[in-house]
Amino acid sequence: MRSRSLRGAVVAAGLSVLVGAQPALAAPAGHGEPRYSAGAPSVGDPYFPDEGNGGFDVLHYDVAFDYEPATRHMVATTTITALATQDLDRFDLDFRGPEISALLVGKHPASFRRDGQELVVTPRPKLKSGEQFTVVVKYAGTPPVITDPDESIEGWVPTDDGVFVPGEPQGSPAWLPGSDHPTDKATFTFHATVPEGLTAVGNGQLLSQKTVGGRTTFVWDSTEPMATYLATVTIGKFQVARSATPSGIPIYTAVDPQLASQSAATVARIPDIIEYFGSLFGPYPFASAGAIIDRAPDVGYALESQTKPIFSSSPSLNTMAHEIAHQWYGDSVSLSRWSDIWLNEGFATYAQWMWTEHNGGATTQQTFNSASNYGRAATSAFWQTVTTDPGPVDMFGSVPYNRGAMTLHALRGKIGDTAFFQLLKQWATAHRYGNVSTADFIGEAQSVSGMDLTNFFDVWLVQKGKPATW
Ligand SMILES: [Zn+2]
Repeated sequence: MRSRSLRGAVVAAGLSVLVGAQPALAAPAGHGEPRYSAGAPSVGDPYFPDEGNGGFDVLHYDVAFDYEPATRHMVATTTITALATQDLDRFDLDFRGPEISALLVGKHPASFRRDGQELVVTPRPKLKSGEQFTVVVKYAGTPPVITDPDESIEGWVPTDDGVFVPGEPQGSPAWLPGSDHPTDKATFTFHATVPEGLTAVGNGQLLSQKTVGGRTTFVWDSTEPMATYLATVTIGKFQVARSATPSGIPIYTAVDPQLASQSAATVARIPDIIEYFGSLFGPYPFASAGAIIDRAPDVGYALESQTKPIFSSSPSLNTMAHEIAHQWYGDSVSLSRWSDIWLNEGFATYAQWMWTEHNGGATTQQTFNSASNYGRAATSAFWQTVTTDPGPVDMFGSVPYNRGAMTLHALRGKIGDTAFFQLLKQWATAHRYGNVSTADFIGEAQSVSGMDLTNFFDVWLVQKGKPATW
């Protein structure tokens, strides 16, 4: 826990802090005597025990591929730039993608083996703590569709005109090797080459789009730290439109032509939603915004992919608001452990309630009282899940969303609007690009309100049963 929190804080504060901190952490070792060992094969998150890796911190991913939807064939080179956080004679990456033809650490070919999700790399020469290094992985074939514990699918999901690419919580290793846990955020560049006429839409800003010999290469640059599960390069026939928010954030939307007319009204509200949430949560955290609206009926859900949420069908206005709210809560401010998923989903759901009220619909109090929320009978099974530990099967079930949002609404009533909105803004700004825990949130809620909220959060987040008093 401590090392993961530290890593998050370090990413938020910048590389210089980590470099500065390293000698102090390594002080007991003899001067200049490296002690090599293998990096941990995961970060030890109990919900996804293989996710992430120890011994290094990824700084940047450069993902270059050519993809042919007709044959579902990908030829790819991913270059990872990372910083060793211990003396390493071996380390793991997470990868469930197609066959690897070459792997280099720096300029040197490295031996490797694959064991499930683990790609075990033996670098020679070995790596010293504090050393920045690159890993180049060349691979080709068809990336897989990945099935989650709740039986939903993600990863690399073919559509009738391309591919739909959602990654939460374990989809990115389908198509890019890396460190697949939200505690290891990094910047990304994508170079995606597809048949002319198709569009490859990645996170961040479009740097270039160039067609040579019937194939178009799109270069996307995601300039703020991003968790791997939020990465996407979704490919298909798209109607592309560019606009901007009133405060000048560029917006890039890609909409499947068959969904264009039914999605138009929702897409038109993206600037309003960003401005409204900016007024509540503080400035939009990224250099660009947008949306990808595609037809992927087997996926059936939307995901808050960073800067460009992806929708597997035409979204409702509320769903659009939910995914945009995640840009602050979930994307910029990230989890440290998946069991705290309510920090993503409860916040995005409550933001959606506030948007609904702002847009002339039900008030947050009415939504709180409704039959899908506090109006549920006390005998409902809904009340029997612990909000801060729903388990990997139910982490995207209704409890982290609805009970999470109810928790925030009840907190607002408990501490008052002034403290509540100060807390929301502080949470988004103080932890921008970092990682957080439920304990962090409780601490800040108490600090901002000046109240002892131990019982309140115990009733709402830890205890089972329908809260009666808090
Ligand atoms: Zn969500």
